[in-house]
Amino acid sequence: ATPTALMVGTGRGAQLGILIKGPEVLESTRRVDTVVLDKTGTVTTGRMTLLAVHTAEGTDEADALRLAGALEHSSEHPIARAVADGALEKLGALPAPEDFANVPGLGVQGVVEGHAVLVGRERLLADWAMRLPEGLAGARAAAEDAGRTAIAVAWDGEARAVLEVADAVKDTSAEAVRRLRALGLTPILLTGDNEAVARSVAREVGVEEVIAEVLPQDKVDVVKRLQAEGRSVAMVGDGVNDAAALAQADLGLAMGTGTDAAIEAGDLTLVRGDLRAAADAIRLARRTLGTIR
Ligand code: ADP
Ligand code: MG
Repeated sequence: ATPTALMVGTGRGAQLGILIKGPEVLESTRRVDTVVLDKTGTVTTGRMTLLAVHTAEGTDEADALRLAGALEHSSEHPIARAVADGALEKLGALPAPEDFANVPGLGVQGVVEGHAVLVGRERLLADWAMRLPEGLAGARAAAEDAGRTAIAVAWDGEARAVLEVADAVKDTSAEAVRRLRALGLTPILLTGDNEAVARSVAREVGVEEVIAEVLPQDKVDVVKRLQAEGRSVAMVGDGVNDAAALAQADLGLAMGTGTDAAIEAGDLTLVRGDLRAAADAIRLARRTLGTIR
């Protein structure tokens, strides 16, 4: 394409809410045949709500909410906000944790009111040799079958509660997937969330391939593996945990509603956080390069 065509393409992109980092970015779209979609915040709104609290026998719901809410109040994760907001709404106030740490892709841990508390995936509990008692494991399975994310809460060495959180699929996501397919791209849903939730979201938006339970630092390896299979990969994401994968992808598309880390790592930004703009971007780039009409 001529420099003028590239400039026109870039300008048209801005009108469509697509910020392109440079003309060379358009060139990367030529061979793209696979589009990896992050789930939380990209295909779904990322605004989660706390829907239910299940407690082990002898555990008080208010205790579970207070200890989990206090820790999650210190985290920026969408799940953390849902838990902290849900707890605040029920209890009115939350104590400040004495100690707090994020465990990326797994949850949070810390000390609240003198108790060592864990909130997150069952895998986080397993790292401390804890597991859900039978009743809570059942609640977790039922929640996941319903497409919700189940978060385990443990303190003083015992798993004591399961929290159900969920966010909604964006109402533009299914159409976006149809448009990406119409451009000949194969969509893949990639997430750190569990398989059942991922499958349920994938079904809702029309994606068949799912890669779930991927730790933040491993998302980039998924992209590398697809590239090693000879695929040319576009990746759409919004989180800090997507940044490395966005940089590795042949074309990285960052949600403008997402984190600065993702926006910096991407080749282009979908300003409005509307996944349909991913299809617009690829179509525009191809048209600018004269590969389609
Ligand atoms: P995604 O890839 O969908 O954006 P993440 O990699 O951020 O998700 O998180 C993966 C999983 O780790 C979540 O689905 C959740 O089970 C758990 N998790 C991460 N952070 C937290 C947190 N602050 N509180 C509870 N659970 C968490
Ligand atoms: Mg995300």
